[in-house]
Amino acid sequence: MDMAPTLMELGDRLACLRAELGRRNLAGFVVPRADAHQGEYVPPHDARLAWLTGFTGSAGTAVILRTRAAIFVDGRYTLQVRDEVDTTLIDPLPIMEQSPEDWLAKHLRPGDRLGYDPWLHTPDGVSRLQSACARAGAVLDACTDNPIDAVWIDQPPPPKAAITPYPLEYAGENSTSKRTRIAELVAKIPAYAAVLTMPDSIAWLLNIRGGDVDHSPLPLSFAILYDDGRCSLFMDPDKIGQGLVAHLGDQVTLHDQQALGPALDSLGGDTKHVLLDTGTAAAWIANRLTAAGAKLVSGADPCALPKARKNATEIAGMRTAHIRDGAALCSFLAWLDQTAAKGGLDEITASDKLESFRKATGCLRDLSFPTISGAGPNGAIVHYRASAKNNRMLEAGNLYLLDSGAQYLDGTTDVTRTIAIGTPSAEQQDRFTRVLKGHIGLATIRFPKGVTGAHLDVLARAALWKAGLDYDHGTGHGVGCYLSVHEGPQSISRRPNNVGLDPGMIVSNEPGYYKQGAYGIRIENLVLVTEPCQIPGGEREMMGFDSLTLAPIDLRLVTRGLLTDEEAGWLNTYHAQVCKTLMPLVDAPTASWLAHATRAI
Ligand code: ZN
Ligand code: ZN
Repeated sequence: MDMAPTLMELGDRLACLRAELGRRNLAGFVVPRADAHQGEYVPPHDARLAWLTGFTGSAGTAVILRTRAAIFVDGRYTLQVRDEVDTTLIDPLPIMEQSPEDWLAKHLRPGDRLGYDPWLHTPDGVSRLQSACARAGAVLDACTDNPIDAVWIDQPPPPKAAITPYPLEYAGENSTSKRTRIAELVAKIPAYAAVLTMPDSIAWLLNIRGGDVDHSPLPLSFAILYDDGRCSLFMDPDKIGQGLVAHLGDQVTLHDQQALGPALDSLGGDTKHVLLDTGTAAAWIANRLTAAGAKLVSGADPCALPKARKNATEIAGMRTAHIRDGAALCSFLAWLDQTAAKGGLDEITASDKLESFRKATGCLRDLSFPTISGAGPNGAIVHYRASAKNNRMLEAGNLYLLDSGAQYLDGTTDVTRTIAIGTPSAEQQDRFTRVLKGHIGLATIRFPKGVTGAHLDVLARAALWKAGLDYDHGTGHGVGCYLSVHEGPQSISRRPNNVGLDPGMIVSNEPGYYKQGAYGIRIENLVLVTEPCQIPGGEREMMGFDSLTLAPIDLRLVTRGLLTDEEAGWLNTYHAQVCKTLMPLVDAPTASWLAHATRAI
C-alpha cells in the first residue's frame, strides 16, 4: 500500500465488514496477518489486516466483534500500532499481556458464531480459537470465503510472478535426488504422502524460484510429495515460466490450484497416512484431509531440516555472494565515513546509497528485507523502518545502526554494522565492546554433535549480563540460499529448540544492546556450521562456526582493555581476512579506507 488510508476510510471499512458479518449471521471475525502459506511477507492481495486496520507490521491479529474490536501485537509493534490504527475503534493490546483467545473468551456471548478463514490459520491456531469459543459458549465457524474479500472493492489480485527453474549450478543437487531423499523420510514415518505448504520448501525441493512476495523469490504454491518420489505441484498456470515444464520432468505433475481439494480427497481411505505440518499448514488442508478420511500424521515439514543443511555448491554460492556483498557494503562504509562527517546525511539517503552500491554489482535481485537504517534513538527500535515522517539526520555523537541484506542468485545475505558518527561516548564504547565480546564468544565456540542454538545463546549475552544488561530478541536465525532470509528449523535463542546444529547450517550471530531513546547496537555476521573435527589432544570431535560475512567492525567503538587477548586476536584475524578478500574488489579510496578500518589492535 503506497498511501496510508485515512482514519475515516478505516472507519468505513470496519463498518462495511461488520455489515457483511451481520449478513452472514456472524458475531465476529478473526483477521490474522497471514496468507495461505504463513509466510513472513504477504502479497498485497492478502494484506487484509493492513487494509482493515491500517496496521502494517509483520505480525499481528485483529478480532472484530459487533461492538468492539481489538488488535494484538508483540513488543516490536506496541508503538507503531498506536500510530497506525484508529484507537477509538480498535483497542491495541500487547499480546504478551493478553492473548486474542483470552480476550475472545471474555467478550464472546453464549451462542455467538465467530468466523475465521481456514486458509489463514494453522490447525494448531484453530484449536486455540476453538477452546476460547468453548470457554464463552460460542461456536467457531470456518468461512467458505473471506468476508473481507467481499467488501474490499479494489483488492489487488493474487500475484502471478513467473516460476522458473533454479539452475543446478547453484542448487548443487537435482530435484530427483532431493525428492528421493525426502520421500524416504516420508515413507519411514510411515506415510503415503506429505502435503507441503511452505513455498520455500517447495522451491528447494523442486529447484524452482518465483517472485510472488517482496524480498524472497518464493513461488506461492502447494505440493504433494508421494512416498515414491513423485510430486504434484499446484499453482496458477499463468505462473508457468520459461523452461519450467521441461525442468520439472515427468515425475512432477503440474495442476491448477483448484485441483488441490480433489487431490487431497484422493489421499483419504483407511490405509493412507498423510504427513502435514500442523504448525504451518492451512487448517483448510487439514480439514479437507480429515473429511476425506485420511489419517493425519502431524510432523515437521520434511524439507525443513535437509534444506537447512546446505550442500557444498550452496555453501560455495553463499561465500561468493558474501564476498560480492561485502565489497558493496565496504564501499558504502567508506563513503559514509566521508559523507557523514560533513553533516546533512539522513537515514533514507544513506540506505538508498547502500542499495545503489549493491545494484552496481550487477547481480542484485532484491534486498533480502527492508533495510533498517537507524540513527541515534531510532537505532534502539529493533524493527525500525525509516519513513518520511521519522527520517533522522546522522549527527555527531550518534550511533548509526544499519541492518541490511541482499538476494543474489547464488546466495542471500544479512549483515548488521553499528557505526560511530563523530566521537562516541565511553558508555557507547563499553556497550559496543560487550556486544562484540558476545559476538566473538559465539563465533569462537567449539561444540559437539547434538548441541542446539538454545544451549549456545548465553555465550552472546554473558558480557552484557555481567554488567546488568541484555537484549530482547533472539541471537540467531537460519538463512536460506537465494530463499528466505529467516528460515528454520534451527535458531540461536533462549526459546527451547531441540534442533541440533549440523554441519552446513547457516545461522546469524547478532547480539545487540538497545538504550531506549538514545541508541542501538547490533553486530551481525552470518556463520556456517563447520564439519566436526578432532582438536589436537582432544577426545571428541567438535564443530564450530565459520564467518561468511565480510565487513569491518567499527574499531572506534572498541575498548581494547575490555577484550581478552584471545578476543582481540579473533578480531584481528577476522579483519585481516576481510581486508585480504575485499581489497582487490574495491576502488582506491575504499581500499585505503579498508586498510585503516581493518588495522590490527
Ligand atoms: Zn539482519
Ligand atoms: Zn538477521
